[in-house]
Amino acid sequence: MYRSHTCGELRITDVNKRVQLSGWVQTSRNFGELLFLDVRDRYGITQIVFNNNTNNLLFDRAKRLGREFVIQAEGTVVERSNKNPKNPTGDIEILVSDVRILSESKTPPFTIENETDGGDDIRMQYRYLDLRRNEVQEKIIFRHKVGHEVRTYLNANGFLDIETPFLIKSTPEGARDFVVPSRMNPGQFYALPQSPQTFKQLLMVSGFDKYYQITRCFRDEDLRADRQPEFTQIDCEMAFVEQEDILNMFEGLIKHVFKTVKGIELSDFPRMQYDDAMRIYGSDKPDIRFGMEFIEMNDLVKGKGFGVFDNAELVIGINAENAAEYTRKQLDELTDFVKRPQIGATGLIYLRYNNDGTLKSSVDKFYNEDELKKWAEAANMKPGDLLLVLCGNTDKVRKQMNELRLEMGNRLGLRKKDDFKPLWVLDFPLLEFIEEDNRWFAMHHPFTSPKKEDIEFLYTDPARVRADAYDLAINGVEVGGGSIRIYDKALQAEMFKRLGFTEEEAQKQFGFLMNAFEYGAPPHGGLAFGFDRLCAVLNSVETIRDFIAFPKNNSGRDVMLDSPSTIDEKQMKELNIKTTL
Ligand code: ASP
Repeated sequence: MYRSHTCGELRITDVNKRVQLSGWVQTSRNFGELLFLDVRDRYGITQIVFNNNTNNLLFDRAKRLGREFVIQAEGTVVERSNKNPKNPTGDIEILVSDVRILSESKTPPFTIENETDGGDDIRMQYRYLDLRRNEVQEKIIFRHKVGHEVRTYLNANGFLDIETPFLIKSTPEGARDFVVPSRMNPGQFYALPQSPQTFKQLLMVSGFDKYYQITRCFRDEDLRADRQPEFTQIDCEMAFVEQEDILNMFEGLIKHVFKTVKGIELSDFPRMQYDDAMRIYGSDKPDIRFGMEFIEMNDLVKGKGFGVFDNAELVIGINAENAAEYTRKQLDELTDFVKRPQIGATGLIYLRYNNDGTLKSSVDKFYNEDELKKWAEAANMKPGDLLLVLCGNTDKVRKQMNELRLEMGNRLGLRKKDDFKPLWVLDFPLLEFIEEDNRWFAMHHPFTSPKKEDIEFLYTDPARVRADAYDLAINGVEVGGGSIRIYDKALQAEMFKRLGFTEEEAQKQFGFLMNAFEYGAPPHGGLAFGFDRLCAVLNSVETIRDFIAFPKNNSGRDVMLDSPSTIDEKQMKELNIKTTL
């Protein structure tokens, strides 16, 4: 028997028990007479002690036990004179009568502590050691709990967990595919799924009714800070449902997870139209932990001789409460912030509502006191508030103001970590025009159903067609999204046509789905949550990487495996891949 207890288990009530523990040596402290080792496993840390006076031979063996050695110790639980209230096992220690080395360790390249001295790269290279650190381990265990609760809820609601293939077929729609050459079919390739979308729809045609899968998805996208080339979705689909059914079912799921994993009871999620979200917050995933809603100011500011506003399509302001005392320097910082190339505003205008009731703006030359008062009224300002104004092209200025609003939310401490504010954003546009390609693309994916009442605009005014598509945002982060699907062959074919596919192309790429629709397809819809992302949001952190046991780095590399890597000539030949290198 390697162990009778774990290293997180023993308490004062266990005193006098004879026990065996196994684990890793965290620290060793030799005081000449006594030598203390902290032994760690996934459950905690227990102090074990060796007495030089009572067992000199054993003491000498203990001196050899270095950091990260795996040891097995046998001894008696004794009460500690020097208790450590911070550690659950801190009331006791083990007086060791025998110790055995199970495995030796080289000195680890960084300290296995919460406050480690290891940089990012070295920790990624030795990820198995990084994963020994308590705070890293906690995140992986947290992920397990979330997954468990997701399954509990979905199983209880009659969902079936069904696997779908990883080796599928490449399609040009959506992000780029990762492809896998087929040795048996020279010159041909599989693709890894970006999501199980078409398969889960086929499962509905097959009659499975309620499906879920916690599964990996692969997207060969340009990397951003919080993106991974492979990530995990909680992928779900239901038949015989309308949007309302989906929203209720999955609002229930998120509530269940918050309650069981975090002990937080969320109240009903508010809902907002996509158009309103864009108008009021400049974002399709607004952080509604705080207000600072956009105030459209065209009527108040135009025609007073201030060319910048006169020439702008849209002028919007936000009221930063209690920020009137911002110094010149702080305002300059904000101006620099909005002028950064990533944001791209040309300047920032402000109006201070001073505590003495006076108004002071950066455009006093053009606007008199009465006019400024109207701005203040429109923005619901009180003395002590600061109005920040941006202007420009509607879409651009909304995006810029969204960034400024979030920045102000941070600066004013309004984005509280322990506050969780989910929001359903509904009725996304069906299509978006991509200038670069000079054609319409499906905003969600080509299987999303247009709203019935908008179908007539598919050709006359495509931008106006709304979809039965929804996203769930929590604290400004998109954690999931989905849609009601097209289940009619003719409409699906029409959709592909609208997206610029010829009939042959559509048939070649998605014929299997359209054919299936000819054999009795039920109305259906679903969504997918980003599992890694959801874990991060539940912990109020931004990086999803910490919740993945073996993540890729920011350049999409696995530095531990040193992958991607070249393959040898023979393999290339077998795969029928010619290289120009
Ligand atoms: N497959 C979709 C996605 O990956 C989600 C859905 O529509 O269910 O975003």
